[in-house]
Amino acid sequence: ILLILNFILHKADSGCNNSVTTSLVQFPPNEVLISLQSQVLDGHLSLKDNEDAAKDFGNIHHFPPLAVLHPKSVSDISRTIKHVFEKGSDSELKIAARGHGHSLQGQSQAHEGLVIKMESLQGHEMKIHSGEFPYVDVSGGELWINILHETLKHGLAPKSWTDYLHLTVGGTLSNAGISGQAFKHGPQINNIFQLEVVTGKGEVVTCSENRNADLFHGVLGGLGQFGIITRARISLESAPKRVKWIRVLYSDFSLFTRDQEYLISLKDTFDYIEGFVIINRTGILNSWRLSFDPKDPLQASQFNSDGKTFYCLEMAKYFNPDEVEVVNQGVDHLLSQLSYIPPTLFLSEVSYVEFLDRVHVSEKKLRAQGLWEVHHPWLNLLIPRSEIHDFAEVVFGHILKDTSNGPILIYPVNQTRWNSKTSLVTPEEDVFYLVAFLSSAVPFSTGENSLEYILNQNKRILDFCSHAQLNVKQYLPHYSTQEEWQAHFGSQWGAFVERKRAYDPLALLAPGHKIFQKAM
Ligand code: FAD
Repeated sequence: ILLILNFILHKADSGCNNSVTTSLVQFPPNEVLISLQSQVLDGHLSLKDNEDAAKDFGNIHHFPPLAVLHPKSVSDISRTIKHVFEKGSDSELKIAARGHGHSLQGQSQAHEGLVIKMESLQGHEMKIHSGEFPYVDVSGGELWINILHETLKHGLAPKSWTDYLHLTVGGTLSNAGISGQAFKHGPQINNIFQLEVVTGKGEVVTCSENRNADLFHGVLGGLGQFGIITRARISLESAPKRVKWIRVLYSDFSLFTRDQEYLISLKDTFDYIEGFVIINRTGILNSWRLSFDPKDPLQASQFNSDGKTFYCLEMAKYFNPDEVEVVNQGVDHLLSQLSYIPPTLFLSEVSYVEFLDRVHVSEKKLRAQGLWEVHHPWLNLLIPRSEIHDFAEVVFGHILKDTSNGPILIYPVNQTRWNSKTSLVTPEEDVFYLVAFLSSAVPFSTGENSLEYILNQNKRILDFCSHAQLNVKQYLPHYSTQEEWQAHFGSQWGAFVERKRAYDPLALLAPGHKIFQKAM
């Protein structure tokens, strides 16, 4: 009866009656947790007020843990995992590392388990090494925005980014970390020299391309399955001071993708290349004017976007103030080779930090309107170049013909520049596209704006890919059964299972992905 009461109270407390949202009852701590409390820690273990650990950016699944570890040292993490591991497979206590909790489907949660709050490790000194191959050593719980500010003090910065920097190193490296620099430098997981990892047995292991390479490759893109990243050595380059940031529009998808692919094939090209789809929005160019200047203001003001689908190519060129002339010539030359709609050339010049931290500006605006902490049923797909036209025709032409519930990113990358030894799975073509449907739904909204509608739309997109037998891979993947995971990993599944057996044989780590439910 107490449990049922607890369940009802918890439901009422969560204040959300949306049918898709999952809330589960919180039980009293089990035996392993009681024994864990007797461990001497530099940080501390919290058994109550842990609601935050049951939340994530997706805001669709809410699985409360029994406890949260706030580690102050790597040995806090190692000792805790070792303790749980030594209890053997009888311990049902699963362990999830939580970075900034910006995953989408409960991946950083541990239902009735233990969450390790990696941000508590932040603040450990970042060590920068300049030289021929500069790098910075950071904690796995460090936010990329902090790394940017710290490395800039030395005139350096990481090469590859995500669009949003308020994410942790461990959180993005366990996926990939993909943005507009990835066509050139590969994703963030390509730009790591060394990792320190605590495995599912509690062992602390340093790994790199030359040392414990199997663990190194396994952990990069490994969805947190083989170990917790406690430190990372990130490759750096000279940081520019300024950025030319450019947007142009296309109404023809073939011209848009042809230009994108052309730009990423060049050696001397932009430093960042992305793109997005604009479905049925009026006055696009007017809304850009706040932060971008049209090259031809008169013509731009006459441009009518009503009721149409456009494709926006977004490019950026980094430079220092003494290089303005050369950079302008280079940019003009590149733009002269593109086939965009002429009045839609919009330019802006911002500092490097402003450019990289651009999504944070939108975050502040959305927060002010109460629109940041809403549902985020995002869908991210990697699509081979040879299939992108079939995909676009059906998805942009039919499924999402009239409206979208958030930005839709679309840009190609060069697979040849990506390290194929990591756990990340991608389509098997030299060029593939990232297509990201970044939808949001305000709780309790109905019809086309509701969470159910968007989830159904995502399903229609996935069903289409499957019926048309497109060789699409999910990025930031989400599946419910091991069979689906096996299909996702394809020929890499065997190696993935072997690594799990070697590094986390009791399947303690990262239960939120639902890949391995039982000890191996
Ligand atoms: P969490 O959500 O806390 O954790 C994610 C996963 O990583 C969980 O499985 C967790 O257990 C595991 N994990 C966390 N820390 C560690 C660790 N130290 N060691 C091992 N495993 C760990 N992604 C891109 O690639 N490109 C983008 O441009 C991009 N933009 C985004 C913009 C926004 C606004 C948001 C919300 C997300 C974006 N993402 C992007 C997705 C993001 O990279 C992932 O969701 C990432 O996992 C979030 O990092 P986090 O620190 O919040 O991780």
